Amino acid sequence: MIEILLTNDDGIDSPGLVALRRALDGLGSVTTVAPDGNRSAIARSITIERRLTGREVTFGHGYRGIALDGTPVDCVHAAMLGLFGPQPDLVLSGVNLGANMGEDVTYSGTVGAAFEGALIGLPAVAVSIEGRTPAHLDEMVPLALPIVVRVAREGLPRGIMLNVNLPDCERREVRGVEVTRLGCASYHGRIEVESDGRRGEHRYRVLSELRECENEAGTDFAAIAHYVVSVTPLRTDWRDEPTARLLETWDLEGMLLAGRHAGDAAGGS
Ligand code: MN
Repeated sequence: MIEILLTNDDGIDSPGLVALRRALDGLGSVTTVAPDGNRSAIARSITIERRLTGREVTFGHGYRGIALDGTPVDCVHAAMLGLFGPQPDLVLSGVNLGANMGEDVTYSGTVGAAFEGALIGLPAVAVSIEGRTPAHLDEMVPLALPIVVRVAREGLPRGIMLNVNLPDCERREVRGVEVTRLGCASYHGRIEVESDGRRGEHRYRVLSELRECENEAGTDFAAIAHYVVSVTPLRTDWRDEPTARLLETWDLEGMLLAGRHAGDAAGGS
């Protein structure tokens, strides 16, 4: 039987986690290890400055799980080390309330947790649904399940995870499913200033703003806008090969020498 690790970034009490947990009934052996509160937009943070505590809890009408006072990646770490049950074969993260799309995925704790699974070499899937308070959570989550089942059976290429986004609509309104690319970031553009620094304090809030480029055809943003389920494969390897080749032409050795001479001239030894 496949060992599934279920986690999220909204916290163990999130209805999104419960919905996914319920959908997994009968699919395998599920260990749920999730943050004890909301850790959204915490990306791939880990806790290293203090001890972590995992508490056995009951969530969502009788499921057993661990509430950890850490980050989503802390949850995956602990589970990988077999701390709260058998080591997983598959990492699932979500369902996040709020889509995780475009360049915003780099802020996402939901994606961060799945990314950790992929880094360790496990198949991993992050699932999110459009909207902070989706009206169709329970009816939409099962649509992601066949993807999860397939990944569980066949795995994914090493270092690759899937980022799945569900539109918040009635099931019969779903127009299809699409392999998408990442749109742009929506959290760059706008802030709301509450205090402009006249008393030595700058207080402001970062707001989400949709930009034109995000709705280009083929992006995750466009899919969700058209009631299409979005599946984006993401890679853990951030290194860029073309730029590595470009850098080979830079004479980095010569530049290092020049830097050393400049340091000597400035009085270094
Ligand atoms: Mn979240």
